[in-house]
Amino acid sequence: MADTTGIEWTDSTWNPVTGCTKISDGCTHCYAATFAERWRGIPGHHFEAGFDIILRPERLRLPMTWTKPRRIFLDSMSDLFHQDIPDTYIAQVFAIMALTPRHTYQVLTKRHARMKALLSRATFWHDVAQQGREHFARCQEDWLAAGAMLGGKPLPNVWLGVSVEDQKWADIRIPALLGTPAAVRFLSCEPLLGPVNLKRAVITMGSERGHGLTASYVHAAGCCESGLHGIDWVIAGGESGPGARPMHPQWARHLRDQCTWAGVPFFLKQWGEHAPEDHGHDRGAITLIDTQGRTWNGREALAPPDAVRMRRVGKKAAGRLLDGASYDAAPAAR
Ligand code: SF4
Repeated sequence: MADTTGIEWTDSTWNPVTGCTKISDGCTHCYAATFAERWRGIPGHHFEAGFDIILRPERLRLPMTWTKPRRIFLDSMSDLFHQDIPDTYIAQVFAIMALTPRHTYQVLTKRHARMKALLSRATFWHDVAQQGREHFARCQEDWLAAGAMLGGKPLPNVWLGVSVEDQKWADIRIPALLGTPAAVRFLSCEPLLGPVNLKRAVITMGSERGHGLTASYVHAAGCCESGLHGIDWVIAGGESGPGARPMHPQWARHLRDQCTWAGVPFFLKQWGEHAPEDHGHDRGAITLIDTQGRTWNGREALAPPDAVRMRRVGKKAAGRLLDGASYDAAPAAR
């Protein structure tokens, strides 16, 4: 498998595991599942087992062979915190990340609960240390450097993110992410399937932390004034591929504006298959969609004023401009 990638917000992918199972609406048209299942049953093919979970220990050391620093998207073909991946194997993956501080790792999951539970546990980090020392450190100096990184703080070169496709998952996954020890926390709002109020999810986190305050009191106390309580980056994008659902422009705009207000870097990856008609597109099937995600094809006269016409023009033609600008902000890699 190639390690290069067309994903705009990273340099390389690293897949020490492949395969997964669908868990939420954002998975409906999972590109990795579609890709892997095409090869199911073909003897000798890397994806002979389709999208079944397969550990790939032969790929564990790959980042050690990359001498120049890279941003590495971990498990573009899986979800590292899937329940069928053993804790010890995840510890091996973290040991490799600790041993290669020159790289910046971007770890994205929809299994927020397991990520939080595992990375909050001291015994997990002991296992990381043990796996690293026994299996991967090439010399004592290597291990001493990695051991220093494991000194009770989150690994500085590992960014943790959760997928947020709509408000329901924002309210569930963002508090879990904020409760997970991490140097950098990010959201992947792709495919964006509905409006997302980040502040609402962050305030849920406030309740979880136990201050039990109402939203208005939280604001009055000023604790939400200086950002989004530990969200360091937001990526947004529409869906691509067969069956792709359109992203209402207002959803992307609202995320951008929340990030601008909070001083959080915002990256708009793509419109996906569908672009707003008012971007100058006069070809492609039309979907009339409102800000609640309801479609009104054939009932145009009944559509609310916020409904917009989206054209299915393909990912490339749709591009990634929002209100005439591209959004490429990201935290600094190490
Ligand atoms: S969690 Fe990710 S890799 Fe797994 S099925 Fe869903 S979209 Fe695909």
